[in-house]
Amino acid sequence: MNKAVRAIGEIVIYHAHIYYDPETTRAAAEQLRVRIGERFKVRLGRWHEVSVGPHPQAMFQVAFETEVFPALVPFLMLNHGDLSILIHTNTADQQRDHVRDALWIGAKLQVKASGLPTEGPPNEAGEPNTTPTLAA
Ligand code: ZN
Repeated sequence: MNKAVRAIGEIVIYHAHIYYDPETTRAAAEQLRVRIGERFKVRLGRWHEVSVGPHPQAMFQVAFETEVFPALVPFLMLNHGDLSILIHTNTADQQRDHVRDALWIGAKLQVKASGLPTEGPPNEAGEPNTTPTLAA
């Protein structure tokens, strides 16, 4: 085992995927989404009411630049309630990003990453669509 050290510059952006149950925890997810938008400059993705791609449950995505991580991730740690949140890097290897190198807040779910590419252009964040007015 003499693998090359990976530099943090490989990380283009991060995603947080906020999972919920449409029957029981959607209101909690809605509240957390509002609280994120009030405090952080991020791109809030649309609601996915059913499992899509590698994601095992309904969820929405939050895409954010690396400089947002030190405030947003602790905020989610303290405020996720009963929701499960996957935090993952976006590098050239999406399979590693989603499984081996991922962080979980709350209960860990099983991500189906086998269909994800292991090389290719990383995801970009896109323009933030929030206008924060409150301090974290
Ligand atoms: Zn993602």
